[in-house]
Amino acid sequence: MARYSYSRLNSYRTCPLQYRFRYIDKTPVEVAPSIEAFMGSRVHDAMEWLYKQVAGGRAPTADEVLAVYSERWEAKRAGGLRIVNEHLDEAAYRDAGRHCIERYVDRHAPFHEGIVLGLEESFQIPLGDGLVLNGVIDRLMKPEDNVYEVHDYKTSQHLPTPEQAQADEQGGWYALAVRRRFPQAREVRLVWHYLRHDEDLATTRTPEEAEALEKDIVRRVRAIEAATDFPAQESRLCAWCDYLSICPAKGHRRAVEALPPNEYLHEPGVVLVNRLAELRALLKTATDGLESEIAQVEEALLAYAREHGYSVIVGDEREAAISEIEILAFPRKDDPQRAPLESLVRQLGLWDDVSDLNLNKLEKALDREGLPPDARAKLAPFASAEPRITIRLRKKRDTADR
Ligand code: SF4
Repeated sequence: MARYSYSRLNSYRTCPLQYRFRYIDKTPVEVAPSIEAFMGSRVHDAMEWLYKQVAGGRAPTADEVLAVYSERWEAKRAGGLRIVNEHLDEAAYRDAGRHCIERYVDRHAPFHEGIVLGLEESFQIPLGDGLVLNGVIDRLMKPEDNVYEVHDYKTSQHLPTPEQAQADEQGGWYALAVRRRFPQAREVRLVWHYLRHDEDLATTRTPEEAEALEKDIVRRVRAIEAATDFPAQESRLCAWCDYLSICPAKGHRRAVEALPPNEYLHEPGVVLVNRLAELRALLKTATDGLESEIAQVEEALLAYAREHGYSVIVGDEREAAISEIEILAFPRKDDPQRAPLESLVRQLGLWDDVSDLNLNKLEKALDREGLPPDARAKLAPFASAEPRITIRLRKKRDTADR
């Protein structure tokens, strides 16, 4: 049975190679937890404890919740912590977590927010065809009959706009889970607590939106399962990737960053890339220059032919035949007249005669974007795997972890 969580699908979206390391190859790596994740988990521990007390009929004080936070920080901080932001240290993150809790308690005490239905509540949503979605809800509440609220605590620096919060996919997963569990639900609210900003963002999802998300998840899962290629997708998130030390997109950069400048310039990979960049630049300059000269000679040749009334101009070994005719030009893809033209061609029943199959698009659809399984099965015998090597020169990134 295939189990997918929101973070699993998100990992594929962030970087297919990271997904492969984590979920397919299950590559073991010894890496300390990031300080951001560790602080977030300790805040979650404290909030879980807080609402356990509330469910038991008691509103704890901020000092009590902070004591739990400190005690869990000490108890779980067994190994090292990974700090990417060199301007901050462990104490700064620990304080940030404390402030999150203080502000939250200050704003929400005495926590009369309804009935606590679950804390760190795990869910499974069977979608048929052997696919199960799973996840964990920070806090599930019932503020009134047939109304349910999912509460999620965020300790990141990012505060989304209301539009981004409404489009947040994780919220859609939770709404789906709650609607499956409580089919009688009149309303499902999603309340995201942005603790660093002391802001709560509440959104809802309609049953239709939940259904559309379900279809989209199934489509994406099928595309992942059919994928054969898991390319590295570099981004600023690489700095927090557990597989940074073994990533082939980062390996050479890490190796040469450790070299002194005089050795760096003689490192074989550096030498080859520099030479390739130089040759491609020379080729481009030569090509640009030649194209411009060819255009000038063609113009002069045409003027000469027109002046003398010639249509063929002879050279030493070759001759130039010049014809001047009018050709029909139709609107290109980005022209507003293109859509009416295509529509007319279809109406006239000419589409099959004049259109052509776009193999690039078909290849992309078969490879990554997902197709219905029956279409995939029928197309697959026509496709064969061929090696394709691309060497793209791009602007150099600053450091190995970016
Ligand atoms: S370091 Fe970046 S590119 Fe490499 S696997 Fe991780 S996320 Fe992907």
